[in-house]
Amino acid sequence: IPVDPFDLTIFGGTGDLARRKILPGLYRRFRSGQMPEDSRIIGAARSDLDDNQYRDEVRAALKEFVDRDRLDDASLEGFLDLIRYVSIDAMGDAGWKELKAHVRPDHISAFYFSVAPSLFGPLAERLHAYGMADQSTRIVVEKPFGRDLESARELNRTLAEHFDETQIYRIDHYLGKETVQNLMALRFGNVLFEPLWNSQYVDHIQITVAETVGVGGRGGYYDRSGAMRDMVQNHLMQLLCLIAMEPPSQFDPDAVRDEKLKAIRALDPVKPDSIVRGQYTGKGSTPSYLEDVEAEESNTESFIALKVNISNWRWAGTPIYLRTGKRLKARQSEIAVVFKDAPHSIFGAEAGRHRNILTIRLQPNEGMTLGVTIKEPGPGGMRLIDVPLDMTFAEALGAENDQVTDAYERLVMDVIRGNQTLFMRGDEVEAAWAWTDPIIESWDSTDRKPFPYEPGSSGPEESAMMLHRENRRWREIR
Ligand code: NAD
Repeated sequence: IPVDPFDLTIFGGTGDLARRKILPGLYRRFRSGQMPEDSRIIGAARSDLDDNQYRDEVRAALKEFVDRDRLDDASLEGFLDLIRYVSIDAMGDAGWKELKAHVRPDHISAFYFSVAPSLFGPLAERLHAYGMADQSTRIVVEKPFGRDLESARELNRTLAEHFDETQIYRIDHYLGKETVQNLMALRFGNVLFEPLWNSQYVDHIQITVAETVGVGGRGGYYDRSGAMRDMVQNHLMQLLCLIAMEPPSQFDPDAVRDEKLKAIRALDPVKPDSIVRGQYTGKGSTPSYLEDVEAEESNTESFIALKVNISNWRWAGTPIYLRTGKRLKARQSEIAVVFKDAPHSIFGAEAGRHRNILTIRLQPNEGMTLGVTIKEPGPGGMRLIDVPLDMTFAEALGAENDQVTDAYERLVMDVIRGNQTLFMRGDEVEAAWAWTDPIIESWDSTDRKPFPYEPGSSGPEESAMMLHRENRRWREIR
């Protein structure tokens, strides 16, 4: 369904995120016919470029980051026709009058702040000062949203001086993933799962976001942040919310976000023995974390595993294990809901012990698998085996299908439609920091070092031990 014509300004339009994600996503939406030709995409950044020079940059970015079979000349040129560029200074007056001349008052108007958070305030202020913001204007802000509760509050206060909460779209691109939304469809669109979705039937839940890359070129930023701030406070927390929340009364922005907020507020503080932090070592030609961040010494974690308890009727007694890290064995993001054993096995011990596990894969191959137990085929008597009921979306829907969209493009279209359901509300972000802060303080105050782990492994041994102690094991990263 096409959206209404819009003017989208991308502050930071020459930056890495715009080139890799935002512009390619917009192009794909244009190509699929969702974007009216009367729309405008205005790059605004510091570089001194004219429209055509910026179009050349956009063309180069699309050639690099869009699948070849989706790049055809007609779509490419049609998309480039929508592109404008303004050289602007977020901290000064240069470029603002030119920008105003591009932004049409009778169109939906959105401003994507794809710049450092220190520029959010100056941008918001100038949008008002130059008469480009009214009640219908939308702003999109990127992570990191603060580095602790105090700084997140400060950012929220700054934005609230100029914009109402209903105008602010805080991006967490995990919420734009097809499977993540499907998790809500699965839970609240089927009668099958919800009756089992509690501590009576669920033994535990695992959320894993494993990356193979190191901290790469972002070393300076990463070393001040670490896995807890960079991944857990935002992405893993959002996944946890969707798994753990109560059914909202409707699929509308505040109903959903109210329930997520309640889930975050029900999280117990995490005890130090329920946290394992790691830092990757070097191996062969693979540099160590310290080499990557060019530091002699650092206590920052590139891996973290946590056991989280939720204090409410639904989840008391069912832990949620979170794990994320860099330079691990495989790139793999998944949520696994591990159900309890059947109360009594009528088939005897030799039939084996079997468990239902529902796996929701975010990458690779977005999809869901439900492990079910059946009889092993053949004459060998009653032996049980586990088989997966598998649904890989790309296969089920057809890989060529343009409906299989990337997270960013879906979210940007939601901004144009004015739908905030998949964006974080200010109070949600603050509640997540309120839970995160004491955890970080607990290791900052003791000066405890992260455990070393080899690149290509599943993280430090201590992370496996944490689950072993409770007779559980992590699902394999592969
Ligand atoms: P970048 O450094 O590649 O680009 C920064 C952009 O900001 C450039 O276009 C630059 O011209 C513009 N800019 C800087 N100072 C300016 C000023 N005074 N006035 C106007 N424009 C100015 O940064 P990036 O990697 O694209 O990241 C942008 C934002 O997105 C950051 O907040 C970052 O944390 C966030 N983010 C980035 C990624 C990523 O993969 N790159 C992922 C998640 C979040």
